[in-house]
Amino acid sequence: MKSVSQQLIRNTNLKRLYNCVFSERGISRAALARRTGLSRTAVSDLTDDLTQRGFLYDSGTGASPGVGRNPNCLELCQGNYYVLVFEWEKAAVQAHLVDISGSCTLHRSISRGSEDSYIELCGDFLESGLTGKEAPGGELLGLCFVLPAMIDPEREEVFSTTFSLEQDGGGQGVIAALRKRFAGYTVAVLNDTACAAYAEKIYTRITEKDFAFIRFSQGIGAALFVGERLLGGACASHVQFGHVSISPLGPPCPCGGRGCLELMLAEETLPGRLHRKGSFSYQELGEAARYRDAEAERVIRDLAREFSIALSSLICLTRPSLIVLGGNARYLGELFPEEIRKSLLESGFRKMTENLVLRYSRLGEGACCYGAMKYFFDCHFQFLPDGKKTFFVG
Ligand SMILES: [Zn+2]
Repeated sequence: MKSVSQQLIRNTNLKRLYNCVFSERGISRAALARRTGLSRTAVSDLTDDLTQRGFLYDSGTGASPGVGRNPNCLELCQGNYYVLVFEWEKAAVQAHLVDISGSCTLHRSISRGSEDSYIELCGDFLESGLTGKEAPGGELLGLCFVLPAMIDPEREEVFSTTFSLEQDGGGQGVIAALRKRFAGYTVAVLNDTACAAYAEKIYTRITEKDFAFIRFSQGIGAALFVGERLLGGACASHVQFGHVSISPLGPPCPCGGRGCLELMLAEETLPGRLHRKGSFSYQELGEAARYRDAEAERVIRDLAREFSIALSSLICLTRPSLIVLGGNARYLGELFPEEIRKSLLESGFRKMTENLVLRYSRLGEGACCYGAMKYFFDCHFQFLPDGKKTFFVG
């Protein structure tokens, strides 16, 4: 029987090795030993364990780095282990079965009426949607519930201004209800922006230790990586960037503040800015600006300048070396980041902004479920269960 600390070390090492193969498919055992600093014997023992359990397989010989015997290459197994990710939206639940090797095996969009309980829709899918001939084999490692909400891990409460949890015990009862309904599973309740940010970090191979991911969606959310760690975990309870006020006398926001960034920059403000009637989206605005519509360009410049006010505060607090703009922001085209850079150089703290890289996300909206799977695997999954916690908030 191994002690708890021995188990923890083994878990950590198994995960390090698995993730090395994840980011460098076909790596040899010798290279793994060099990457991780583990001995060749330890690497052999641990990779044998991973191979026997169907996490890795040996694909045979690889290219020789020089003279001598070709090393054996390790690859990720597919089809053996999954994470089921449920994304909660206002009128639907998106269910994704994601293979831990990184591919989405199954996606269902489950429509939701205002009287439907999110928890029951997810429970029904888990019990009936994964059976039948489409059902994949393999083992389900856990469930992720991804919410467009602020999740408070201490009080186990959820706060959202974009969707209602009335059918699920409200913001104060939903986590307890999830815990009860899915007892017996390993569960993680995660914030959507944090999952999108984690996907960006992993799948676009971000090496900056300090970076910010800002997502324009229903509102504006941010996830901050400080010293490679996601600040506050995946629950958005430490950072509410969308509620930084850029106009103290501006309109009241449901959060209790005034002139919050996400309110001031919302798509709903576009018709007023353009002196038009009807609705207007970021996409339409970006499209008009691409063809040099002067009014559209002016509005994008205004949005960038206003956005930079909040961004300067964030930069002064955490000094990210990279800022990634995700979600709908990309529809605004290249003019938007260009103008933000200009504004930051004109009015930001020069020393903190001069080497800053600002870019759009390189992943689509579908990245969230991959980010959730990977976050769950990296932060919560245990190769050797310690028999304690199986319910994670953030
Ligand atoms: Zn607010």
